[in-house]
Amino acid sequence: MAREPGTTDLPVSPARQDIASLDQAGLAAALAALGQPAYRARQVLAWLYGRLAPSFDEMTDLPASLRQGLADRFDLTHPVVLDVQRASDGTRKYLWELPDGVSVESVGIPLGDRLTVCYSTQAGCAMGCTFCATGRGGFARNLLPGEMAWQVALVARDFGTRASNAVAMGQGEPFLNYEATLGGLRFLNAPDGQAIGARHLTVSTCGVIPGIRRFAAEPEQFTLAVSLHSAVQETRDRIMPGACKWPLRALKTALVDYTAGAGRRPTLEYALIAGQNDTHAEIAALVSFARGWLCHVNLIPVNPVPGTGTSRPDDRRIAEVASVLRNAGIEASVRVERGSDIDAACGQLSQRYRAGRG
Ligand code: SF4
Repeated sequence: MAREPGTTDLPVSPARQDIASLDQAGLAAALAALGQPAYRARQVLAWLYGRLAPSFDEMTDLPASLRQGLADRFDLTHPVVLDVQRASDGTRKYLWELPDGVSVESVGIPLGDRLTVCYSTQAGCAMGCTFCATGRGGFARNLLPGEMAWQVALVARDFGTRASNAVAMGQGEPFLNYEATLGGLRFLNAPDGQAIGARHLTVSTCGVIPGIRRFAAEPEQFTLAVSLHSAVQETRDRIMPGACKWPLRALKTALVDYTAGAGRRPTLEYALIAGQNDTHAEIAALVSFARGWLCHVNLIPVNPVPGTGTSRPDDRRIAEVASVLRNAGIEASVRVERGSDIDAACGQLSQRYRAGRG
């Protein structure tokens, strides 16, 4: 009987692979190993991350033998939604369960005709930031490239639109899962995937210097954000213990090199925590860190997480900090608070869900 070239000659490995573990190069290699021409990889990518096909069987423009060949070798399982919280301002927060039972969070933030999706790059997080619910829950595992792209695509589908922006700012430290994070970004950027422009794709890191240096060398114009939260080493070590191996002085050097090499301006995220990093001495250190090079400071009134002892400064102090920065010639903005009537802070929904089940 005639066979589709290559599709059934390969032995089927008893260990099936999760299709979400493949990045673009991996998909291309898998299709090539099945004897397929290069355009088949683009077709499969479009079905997986553009059209969100829930099974290989739905990929109707692939030959039946190829669909079967893929189904014999790969698992295809979308994240399953466990909970959705809807805020009065339209923000929606999602708790997903992945095939092995771990859960992660994403947030959809609509603004006018735009939709920004904040997604996770790890299940849990090892960085241990004191103001973060995820940090308190510990690390479970790295996410796969497809698991990242699916979070964004599924949220966009739930809103009935496409995502204009996506930020890797949910659970996890993206640069401790570098390869998969890049794989996810490329699915989101791919014209056959979510087709989100590279400049509208942002990675937020705690300041993992080797990751920043690699990211600067990537060909795409992805955007970088750094969670700074204090420019005083002692304070930063206390509130972001996982970041202490990349000291502030070396971080600034890496960021200045990044702007010079990549020609792009990073954002410094600064979650204002009353009495901890909003004092005059702290803001003077922030000015000294951010002045004189191409950066933007985004002030974020902290989203208080019960049990962390953190609270946001009052509006007057937030405005004062912004004006101190601007008077020093530093571009600064104050993030508009979204989803404040739901568990919007990273990790809160997951903790509440676990507590409810336990
Ligand atoms: S703030 Fe981000 S890096 Fe810090 S513990 Fe939470 S998820 Fe991890």
